[in-house]
Amino acid sequence: MQQKRKSKDEVFNDLRKYHSQDMSYSSGKILGSMCTHPDPIGIEAYNMFLDTNLGDPGLFKGTSMMEEEVIKSIGNLLHLDDASGHIVTGGTEANIMAITVAKYLYQEKDNEGKPELILPKTSHFSFNKIIRMLDIKPVYVPLTSEYKIDTSKLEDLINENTMAIVAIAGTTELGLIDDIPKISDIAYSHGVYLHVDAALGGFMIPFMNIGKENPTRFDFELRGVSSITIDPHKMGLAPIPSGGIIFRKKEYLEKLAIKTPYLTKDNQTTIVGTRTGASTAATWTLLNYYGIEGYKQIGDNVISLTDYTYKQLLDIPCIKLIHKPELNVLAFITDVMDVESLHDKLLGYGWEVSIGENPHAIRIVLMPHVKRENIDAFLVDLKTV
Ligand SMILES: *Cc1c(COP(=O)(O)O)cnc(C)c1O
Repeated sequence: MQQKRKSKDEVFNDLRKYHSQDMSYSSGKILGSMCTHPDPIGIEAYNMFLDTNLGDPGLFKGTSMMEEEVIKSIGNLLHLDDASGHIVTGGTEANIMAITVAKYLYQEKDNEGKPELILPKTSHFSFNKIIRMLDIKPVYVPLTSEYKIDTSKLEDLINENTMAIVAIAGTTELGLIDDIPKISDIAYSHGVYLHVDAALGGFMIPFMNIGKENPTRFDFELRGVSSITIDPHKMGLAPIPSGGIIFRKKEYLEKLAIKTPYLTKDNQTTIVGTRTGASTAATWTLLNYYGIEGYKQIGDNVISLTDYTYKQLLDIPCIKLIHKPELNVLAFITDVMDVESLHDKLLGYGWEVSIGENPHAIRIVLMPHVKRENIDAFLVDLKTV
């Protein structure tokens, strides 16, 4: 820090220099992110509540009421009456909370062994953090040839040390949805906690299901599902940080309660202490502003762009697509060069695609900031490469 004050102009000039080096969603070139430009209405609400602290909810009664309402409405969307949970910083924190609850429940059973978490290799890397932080033994359930949990192998992995099963509704790398009805039945019949990570899919699948003869079932309507991660800052269009964790039972959330002397409420059930109410306000606003109709439209748009991109890629002879998309994620390889070279060449044209590890492939995510003309320009560059 320098000794003397600087003028605001001077400081902001520097800020602009830094900001100009960031990528912007409006360029349409960010094809590898699950985040997107937040909706302006959400930003307005966010700014309005910037000074609120949900870590001390007695001081911010209105914001605190909004958090309860948001949790109830997201719960309703996920077929649960009277949901418990929080608006948190993201999918990582939501997953940490869920698996911590599962671990506490497991410990109450006086089991001797190291707790075992059954999960697929397609799970988000946040679970690697969790496994390390909570000192859990990971048990990887095999995948089918379609990169989903092989449910025929699941039951054999359950034993008295099993603390929970994780299933994914919208995998980070391919956007695929596990066979959660089957997994739920298995978890329920063995009395095992089932956490569904729908960080991406949670704000898509319920809307895509509308009017469908065979809806994709993944949420609390399945009796084995104990908790769900669902992120407003992905397809909910809320500003970062806005994650969501929903528990089937209040007593699950309350396993996290810690006494909070000198604050306005007796205990806290979040990991974070001081935390912004702005994320809650933005999410509340967007749920009310868009409603089911609005979110369905947003989902339909990204799905139709994904279908379009998929069909265009199918027509390029040297491109091999990894899977048929279920959400707004595509992955492909080419037989003319390896994944890294293709990635670097595309980056040379300014395209920020990402590389998936499992399977090793170029991965693109069609978020709402990506438009049809961006995809057409991308396809031209891809063919040139
Ligand atoms: C994005 C994502 C996460 C992590 O969420 P953050 O908000 O980045 O912490 C977890 N799980 C899945 C399936 C995701 O797609």
